[in-house]
Amino acid sequence: EAPEFQKAIPIIEAIERAGYEAYFVGGSVRDTLLHLDISDVDIASSAMPEEIQRIFPITFDVGIQHGTVMVLFEHETYEITTFRTESKYEKFRRPEKVQYVRSLQDDLKRRDFTINAIAIDRHGNIKDFFNGQADLANKLIRAVGNPEERFREDALRMMRAARFVSQLDFEIEQATKEAIIEYHPLLSKIAVERVREEWNKLLIGRNRKGGVKFFVETRLFQMCPGFQNREDALIDLALFPLQFKGTTIAWTVLVHFLDLKDEAIDPFLRQWKCSRKEIMDIRIGAQALNKRLQQFWDYPLLFETGIEIAMQIEEIIEGFGLPNQSENLIELNESMPIHTLKDLALDGKELLSLLGIKRGGPFVGEIFEELKTLVLANKLENSAIAIKDFIKKRRMIYLDET
Ligand code: ATP
Ligand code: MG
Repeated sequence: EAPEFQKAIPIIEAIERAGYEAYFVGGSVRDTLLHLDISDVDIASSAMPEEIQRIFPITFDVGIQHGTVMVLFEHETYEITTFRTESKYEKFRRPEKVQYVRSLQDDLKRRDFTINAIAIDRHGNIKDFFNGQADLANKLIRAVGNPEERFREDALRMMRAARFVSQLDFEIEQATKEAIIEYHPLLSKIAVERVREEWNKLLIGRNRKGGVKFFVETRLFQMCPGFQNREDALIDLALFPLQFKGTTIAWTVLVHFLDLKDEAIDPFLRQWKCSRKEIMDIRIGAQALNKRLQQFWDYPLLFETGIEIAMQIEEIIEGFGLPNQSENLIELNESMPIHTLKDLALDGKELLSLLGIKRGGPFVGEIFEELKTLVLANKLENSAIAIKDFIKKRRMIYLDET
């Protein structure tokens, strides 16, 4: 059994000593049975959240309204969730309030797919009431119970199904798939942040091709911002031959295939509620990718893009039929005279005193832009002497403009 579980056994023992049951559950159980690396170890218990808080000296309230308490144990944190059902669903979303139950089986019954509804006790005994192990062996994603009911209860599960196709390279069991085709419009009821979280995992999964195809075939894509009637772009994304190492580069390639105009990129990403930083990185990436498809990196393009994003693009450029020249890119970056405006051999204060004025203005930025352009074009050396000399010669013009 995985060391991550071994480390957590004392937690289960402590809960049992207090007179309750506790099991390993969720994605880590599924992944360990698949011999994959496991992420966080989740624990389900018959103990109420307040009871968990009494058992462990250090706990954090991360989602007590959902029955989850985070426990700090030997420098790791573990989420312990009280056995629960979600009996009353409203508006096709998970309910705000949960109903606690005392049996493991009732807890597993409310989980989405059979492969995610397996528990392991502290001795390594498997509790598998819904034949999840058989579905793991057959690489099948099957809803627990009646698939139609389950997707009506919580429409996000449809998106999770698509995500697992990509992440695990599994197929969807037939009745589960038919229910998703039928209920795909309900995905529009789900908060876009939660849809995006699953979409992100789908994008970086090992079978993105299968995941995106499923997302298109079931029509789930029609419920997502900016994807309406864009099967063409999504199929291009499905067929892109390389796996993405991170979500930024994945979205960059997606934006490329959507062929959005520059002004349309930010609104598209805002609809998906991406963060400002993500929006900026993806926009810069998409614009750089388009140029990189026309020509190799040069100083101005690399400066605007930044080496981090440029490297991510270069690593997938083979997917567009161009040879990967990462090493040349690294060399170019190392020889580039400046990497930010701060690297210029003259700062704002020095500039103002050279011009003999006290207060700056927009023209300062313009001068720095000009210096940057000249330095990157090898038309001006990035040394204090050369830049001062240049400014002195241009002084009259600059002062006229202000
Ligand atoms: P990952 O490896 O990405 O963490 P995961 O299966 O652990 O995948 P989580 O979102 O961490 O996904 O959820 C943990 C467990 O909670 C799942 O394995 C599943 O049993 C249950 N679960 C999560 N979301 C839902 C849902 N929308 N409906 C029913 N059960 C869910
Ligand atoms: Mg998980």
